[in-house]
Amino acid sequence: MKYSRQRELVREAVEKSSIHPTADEVYQEVRKREPTISLATVYRNLNQLSENHLIRRVVVPGDSDHFDHTLKEHEHMICTQCGCVVDIWPQVSLQALFSGMEGAHITGYDLTLYGICDDCARKRGEAELQDTAHV
Ligand SMILES: [Zn+2]
Ligand SMILES: [Zn+2]
Repeated sequence: MKYSRQRELVREAVEKSSIHPTADEVYQEVRKREPTISLATVYRNLNQLSENHLIRRVVVPGDSDHFDHTLKEHEHMICTQCGCVVDIWPQVSLQALFSGMEGAHITGYDLTLYGICDDCARKRGEAELQDTAHV
């Protein structure tokens, strides 16, 4: 891959973000430093970077793709309340676990966990407290 300043800006925006930004969120961020960049350019660079394994693409079924700030092995939980992507760090390497399976030669996997993030759990807890206060 040839060096490109725009691609470096896209990569930096993904690596600095902890929220697993979508292409649109990366675009908003890069535009602050490179006002002339187009959304199409951001998409193209995100595709090139993830195809070259320089950033990780997080596929969210039924939603836009997200991009990850780290390449370290970890999984993702999608919050069913607000749709945010939460990093999950299993104590065992699932890659190693699956690669030991008999009768199947697993070369990769894509796992999506569903649940509720801390923020939403807190809000839900507060709502429940308010409910009981009225009883
Ligand atoms: Zn949430
Ligand atoms: Zn992640």
